[in-house]
Amino acid sequence: DPRINGIKTRIRVVPDFPKKGIMFQDITTVLLDPKAFKDTIDLFVERYRNKNISVVAGIEARGFLFGPPIALAIGAKFVPLRKPKKLPGETIFEEYELEYGNDRLEMHVGAVEAGDRALVVDDLIATGGTLCAAIKLLERVGAEVVECACVIELPELQGRQRLKGKPLCMLVEYR
Ligand code: 5GP
Repeated sequence: DPRINGIKTRIRVVPDFPKKGIMFQDITTVLLDPKAFKDTIDLFVERYRNKNISVVAGIEARGFLFGPPIALAIGAKFVPLRKPKKLPGETIFEEYELEYGNDRLEMHVGAVEAGDRALVVDDLIATGGTLCAAIKLLERVGAEVVECACVIELPELQGRQRLKGKPLCMLVEYR
């Protein structure tokens, strides 16, 4: 799709952020270009509009930028999966490993119900640990995870293999 290259050229790569040796993929520069931002949303909407998705689950924080416009366009509810202690209601959580230590994702009880068909949205998949935690949260409450969607994949880290067999749709690979 010719739109992909336009999106790719808008991703800014920032060396040594947040620490030395990391080539950070910055998607805020995609948001600065209304055409590239719209193309990103449209590509996902075209893919998911007729798939009976009932919930889009967005991962804090950059999944909150792409998830809601997709949810609105396909007529699904949006559910935020948040870092610890941000959600005010009763929550369930899944822990996942970071390079140093652990983190967790939390979800409001009752936001997703058994039988919901879920799309998980984030900006980027690296090791896949974050998306794996999201899938577990959704499956624990009886939802079916239809697919995961990311703007960027770092394929060398083989994060796909941690997605419990769920398909991943991504727009741009960074090697
Ligand atoms: P994973 O759990 O797959 O190892 O890491 C993915 C998570 O870390 C995502 O939530 C993503 O937002 C964040 N992340 C890791 N590296 C980058 C990066 O280079 N750019 C951006 N935008 N996010 C990153």
